[in-house]
Amino acid sequence: MTRVNAELLKTVEASGEFNAVACMNCGTCTALCPLGLTNLPREIFRDVVLGLEEKVLANVETVFSCLLCRMCQVNCPAEVKIADNVRTLRVHLNKTLHHL
Ligand code: SF4
Ligand code: SF4
Repeated sequence: MTRVNAELLKTVEASGEFNAVACMNCGTCTALCPLGLTNLPREIFRDVVLGLEEKVLANVETVFSCLLCRMCQVNCPAEVKIADNVRTLRVHLNKTLHHL
């Protein structure tokens, strides 16, 4: 059974800005990503918001593979600061993985 960490979003936000709730799941980011990332940002950000920590941890490689090119961010209709969120998530994961 999947465990929910109700504090996950708050913990991630302690590492920087993380504004993902405005995402309307339109798919523009996925269509434009030069790496063809399919689960970043939409799925992984949603997992953070929902506290699905195990799913986030299962996608660490994807989070660190993002080029931070901002192609997705500048075209996001919901103005989700995608690359900035990825940066914040990396800082959070660096702290967390250190303690696993
Ligand atoms: S482009 Fe923005 S609103 Fe659309 S799915 Fe991606 S993050 Fe969400
Ligand atoms: S910032 Fe990352 S997720 Fe967004 S388009 Fe560039 S490589 Fe893809």
